[in-house]
Amino acid sequence: MAYKITGQCISCDLCLSVCPTGAIKIVDGNRWIDPELCTNCVGSIHTVPQCQAGCPTCDGCVKQPTDYWEGWFATYNRVLAKLTNKEDYWERWFNCYS
Ligand code: SF4
Ligand code: SF4
Repeated sequence: MAYKITGQCISCDLCLSVCPTGAIKIVDGNRWIDPELCTNCVGSIHTVPQCQAGCPTCDGCVKQPTDYWEGWFATYNRVLAKLTNKEDYWERWFNCYS
């Protein structure tokens, strides 16, 4: 399942230059990942999805859930984390990538 750009995106365009397949495009001023081109970075020299790894917002690029409940819990956890988030920026960054 491909990655997608979320509402957390701040349009920094960093992911456009790091995507090995050129899957990330700007459509009508919004960043968009072409699911036909996104390979989740599998088969490339990268060990982690480059768009997510480089995104300064951490949640700007996320993997699309494969089924309804996976999506439901992913959204629930994101909203819950936002409501209860007391971490600072770097703590969140390290938690995201460690
Ligand atoms: S790196 Fe993150 S914030 Fe920057 S354009 Fe991509 S999704 Fe948006
Ligand atoms: S997961 Fe990899 S291939 Fe897919 S959009 Fe992100 S950087 Fe590109």
